[in-house]
Amino acid sequence: MKITIFGTGYVGLVTGTCLADVGHDVICMDVDENKIARLEGGEIPIFEPGLEPMVKANVAAGRLKFTTDAAKAVNHGVLQFIAVGTPPDEDGSADLQYVLAVAKAIGEHMQDDKVVVDKSTVPVGTADRVKAMVESQLEQRGVSLNVDVCSNPEFLKEGAAIEDFAHGARIVVGTDSDKVKQLMRECYAPYIRLQEKLMFMDVRAAELTKYAANAMLATKISFMNEIANLAERLGADVEQVRRGIGSDPRIGYHFIYPGCGYGGSCFPKDVQALARTAREVDYEAELLGAVEAVNQRQKQTLFAKLANAFDSDLKGRTIAIWGLSFKPNTDDMRDAPSRTLMEALWEAGARVQAYDPEAMGETRRIYGERDDLMLAGDRIQAVKGADALVICTEWKEFRSLDFPWLKDQLSMPVVVDGRNLYDPESVRRAGLMYYAVGRGDSL
Ligand code: NAD
Repeated sequence: MKITIFGTGYVGLVTGTCLADVGHDVICMDVDENKIARLEGGEIPIFEPGLEPMVKANVAAGRLKFTTDAAKAVNHGVLQFIAVGTPPDEDGSADLQYVLAVAKAIGEHMQDDKVVVDKSTVPVGTADRVKAMVESQLEQRGVSLNVDVCSNPEFLKEGAAIEDFAHGARIVVGTDSDKVKQLMRECYAPYIRLQEKLMFMDVRAAELTKYAANAMLATKISFMNEIANLAERLGADVEQVRRGIGSDPRIGYHFIYPGCGYGGSCFPKDVQALARTAREVDYEAELLGAVEAVNQRQKQTLFAKLANAFDSDLKGRTIAIWGLSFKPNTDDMRDAPSRTLMEALWEAGARVQAYDPEAMGETRRIYGERDDLMLAGDRIQAVKGADALVICTEWKEFRSLDFPWLKDQLSMPVVVDGRNLYDPESVRRAGLMYYAVGRGDSL
């Protein structure tokens, strides 16, 4: 099947590559010339486990191509996937300018009927706007062609994107057209051989499903952080509480880890966008506001713990940070808690020595060269000569640690653990002061 993907970011590149890998003939279009040049040169602009060999194999097989030429892209695919960004606007609503720019390009260049597949996360009603945009271009050109627009939200997680794309729990398609259903079934046929997981529904329900899923997951995290903050003040260990509630199958163990707040390109913006959508229909989504507020506060918690440990005087201190990406197995730093921490430390006059297995390039791109930031080559270099260590991301390589060795590296033996990786007893036995999240006396 001939397929076009607009946008070669985390979602577009993974979608295009996975669809090529099962035999489809895919062209990926992006307006970022540098990104396309790198992809054409065999370089993968993002870190995603397993993606690089898969891109290379499918390019070599001639099933995956890249272009910046919109006309060429539009005239390739029967299906036109939109996988461009939908960042938050100033008021928190989803900025649809990139989605609508793709719709305009499709309307400008299409020479036969097309099915537009909206994979970007977009507010309810966007499919109608995309269709209207394509049709207005067709009208201007004076041509009579048919365009269908369906919603096919993406549920993949960065860090496990390929696995999620291939083995996700469901494939949601919002459409009322039998023709579109048939084409989407053909597109995803290789993924539903084992188990039927295509869920057809109304377009609006599909658009809302994506926001509801992310808002639910964000709610679980904020709920657990709220309990962690309470546990801290009540002298209880939230890790014991977590096990206690997770064992109830109605609650489950997934997504109830307390920490230093959620980040990334999806949860923060999607919770805000859904709250904004609610306001547009005169409904105040109080729970969503609270989920967002708890998260904002939680992202300050690492700095607050450090400030407490250093009697509110961090000027001239050197703080080591392990983990900069918003979660492990990605280089994505959008809205990462590490950024809130680093920026607060610089504001307070402290220096940062940071290390992340994959996000060093991204950190350099965001913050550039600065005297108060040393980008370390590994976790050992990051702690050398530092006063304290903070863990922001639970990368595997941070999970086991020689605590007596760490004590010798740090001038003030302070460890702030934003991910509750260690056993408090073992850390303290080595003579370190250990401040985790919601673990009894770890305020
Ligand atoms: P991204 O920022 O990584 O990539 C977006 C790409 O679109 C960029 O390369 C950009 O240059 C390109 N682009 C912008 N305008 C374009 C145009 N007119 N034509 C062609 N390309 C254009 O974004 P992402 O993280 O892949 O997210 C894409 C969408 O998928 C968003 O709506 C997001 O909410 C949603 N989503 C993301 C994830 C995730 O984990 N990242 C998961 C599920 C859904």
